[in-house]
Amino acid sequence: MSKSKPDPSALSPETRLVTAGRGYAEHGFVNPAVYHGSTVLFPTAQSLHDRTQPYVYGRRGTPTSRAVEEAVAMVEGGYRAKMTPSGMAAISTALLAFLEAGDHLLMVDTVYQPARQLCDGLLKRLGIATSYYDPLIGRGIAELIRPNTRVVYTESPGSQTMEVQDIPAIAEAAHKAGALLMIDNTWGAGHYFKAFSHGADVSIQAATKYLVGHSDAMMGTVTCSEPAWERFKNAYEEMGQFAGPDDMYLTLRGIRTLDVRLERHMKNAIDVAEWLRGRDEVETVLYPALSNAPGHELWKRDFRGASGLFSIVLKPCGGKAAEAFLDRLSLFGMGYSWGGFESLAIPFAPHRTATSWTAEGPCIRFHIGLENPEDLKADLAEGFRAMTSTP
Ligand SMILES: *Cc1c(COP(=O)(O)O)cnc(C)c1O
Repeated sequence: MSKSKPDPSALSPETRLVTAGRGYAEHGFVNPAVYHGSTVLFPTAQSLHDRTQPYVYGRRGTPTSRAVEEAVAMVEGGYRAKMTPSGMAAISTALLAFLEAGDHLLMVDTVYQPARQLCDGLLKRLGIATSYYDPLIGRGIAELIRPNTRVVYTESPGSQTMEVQDIPAIAEAAHKAGALLMIDNTWGAGHYFKAFSHGADVSIQAATKYLVGHSDAMMGTVTCSEPAWERFKNAYEEMGQFAGPDDMYLTLRGIRTLDVRLERHMKNAIDVAEWLRGRDEVETVLYPALSNAPGHELWKRDFRGASGLFSIVLKPCGGKAAEAFLDRLSLFGMGYSWGGFESLAIPFAPHRTATSWTAEGPCIRFHIGLENPEDLKADLAEGFRAMTSTP
């Protein structure tokens, strides 16, 4: 007799990470096989005609892709999910699935910069108009919604500057006007922000970050509510989207340890962020998990935890001083992406069109990895020493 399967809706989020998508493993193995496959054979002409077998062609799904899709949908709390070869491909596929010529898109001003390029480039050429809005607008979004607004796009917290959005209020206004609420849910990883219980119709992740979690694969996910699913799935297939089997497997493997990794990222990040808040060189720490930090109240209301990504604004100093700080760091690498096991630091300059960024000092974004935070603080202290000795 085989063991009975648990009812996913009755499981807590931590247990879901461990059990999700497990039904695709065979022969007693805990994990599914990595299927490298294009052709799937049909035993008879009749079966080819009927297409009743579960797998028909590589791009249409394999046991590996179905396992990870099911796991992502369960983590996010959505209806179903699809995988794309990068986070950016997830954003473009989701937007193109729901928008058409003549439509209007409301895009948050703090969106991930390459997504802004998509709106101002390809989408504009296709006749889709984008206007940008203040991330802190809340229910005021209603006044910006036009008769042809199809999608209200959010990202919370905002890229780089970490503004927390009032997703339930924005979702309510969008739905009242017949528009969809999309969110880039990469920071909360679907585990710390339950987008669908806060009104999202489509939740996108750069799985490249926390789901994969080891800086070794690129992947995107799009999870939909049941009403949004059919239209998205058709567009995904029409655009020929899919992802490589090894990278899909690495995403599934990453999901198993997401809870313990995020918990440690958060603990270390709070420790380092509090320490940075006490430094004379630092003007502001932008990390909603800190009490009294911008966005803390909304974060506390809506999130189950915080990931390890936050930013600081330094007190005004020469550009050379900020460079000296970054160049002296040895545990913090300087590079794009985040969500892996390692700490990173990168300078940035906020780009805004609907709002303005008024802080004068240089901005630095940190990803706090799984190192001992005492070592990280010692490294940062060295950086500050190099900075203050630079004119
Ligand atoms: C990195 C990132 C993306 C893009 O993901 P890629 O896998 O690099 O294409 C999208 N949104 C956010 C918030 C990101 O940090």
